Amino acid sequence: MSGVDIADSAMAAPPNVPISDVSQAQGKPAFVAPRTYLDQTRPVVPPTPLSAVDREQMEGLRTIRAFLKVRTSYDVLPLSFRLIVFDTSLLVKKSLNILIQNGIVSAPLWDSKTSTFAGLLTTSDYINVIQYYWQNPDALARVDQFRLNSLRDIEKALGVTPIETVSIHPERPLYEACRKMLESRARRIPLVDIDDETHRTMVVSVITQYRILKFITVNIKETQKLRKPLRDLPHVGTYSDLASAFMDTPVMDVIHMLVQKNISSVPILDKDKTVINVFEAVDVITLIKGGVYDDLNLSVGEALLKRSDDFPGIYTCSMQDQLSTIYDTIRKSRVHRFIIIDEDSRLKGVLTLSDILEYTLLEGEADE
Ligand code: ATP
Repeated sequence: MSGVDIADSAMAAPPNVPISDVSQAQGKPAFVAPRTYLDQTRPVVPPTPLSAVDREQMEGLRTIRAFLKVRTSYDVLPLSFRLIVFDTSLLVKKSLNILIQNGIVSAPLWDSKTSTFAGLLTTSDYINVIQYYWQNPDALARVDQFRLNSLRDIEKALGVTPIETVSIHPERPLYEACRKMLESRARRIPLVDIDDETHRTMVVSVITQYRILKFITVNIKETQKLRKPLRDLPHVGTYSDLASAFMDTPVMDVIHMLVQKNISSVPILDKDKTVINVFEAVDVITLIKGGVYDDLNLSVGEALLKRSDDFPGIYTCSMQDQLSTIYDTIRKSRVHRFIIIDEDSRLKGVLTLSDILEYTLLEGEADE
């Protein structure tokens, strides 16, 4: 804080005197050296001392960051796991069915012609296909034959910014993986290594924001120190300009909201603004299952009926909740985001996993 104060005071002009007139008003030469300004510093206001809760919160954050710096992405992986990789020559419609059958929402791509990792397939790719179809409904026969290697052409045809294909070596510090995710806005990051024998790239696994946050809360008891309620953390989460819709909103309007705002969920409200559901980007996968695009004409309410029965439900929290409680919930359940509501269940904001990760990594970091 003191650095900011000095900079502020160096620029400070006496009240009602335009900056350019400062020197003349005080009988000094017309040209001004930086030192002239420094001589006029107003008394430096000492930074407000941190409260006990603030101090404890910062200690908690520092412990988490120190932990992330000494752990690697390998540490996050379970002892045994499966990895489903799609060949880029697979038909888009087939890839949809495989995702649904395996209960997954993304997969690394493999180009078998060059034997190289070809990026990560995510719901954004399917949303691009939907947009392409919506703009070119007569091209259904062509859309039907799209293969995963057509996805980059679809991006170009739509004029959307190509999704950045970040990756990280599994032995790099987890902190670095988190920073990469935040900088690229990627919600998951592939762990890419070099095969010792073939010397070719090899995808080891993919880690998500959820896995990282869960790893933190399972291993670090200091998440309990994050006791400040959300109402005292106004920059954590989004509270204004919220995208929301009603049950009778056409589902395509909601898909357009996801694209325009680059978000992955839209709360669905009742007429009195009570939160009754959430449309998620992953819901588009069931909507175009088998490469049938007719369901895009449905309303959100009708589209949500197509969800599988094992949908885990939506998670809400209030402005009184602390990040320690949020971390507890992440430890116990597979949460995708928290919808922030008031005592009447009306929408107040959205707290996503990237909001939590960003705060955990970056809050006060510049001062450290
Ligand atoms: P994911 O949920 O896929 O893991 P994420 O954590 O990055 O990804 P997003 O939904 O993409 O979550 O959110 C990106 C940013 O947009 C966050 O800062 C979030 O608070 C904000 N946001 C999320 N949903 C909405 C919404 N419906 N309206 C306005 N802003 C939103």
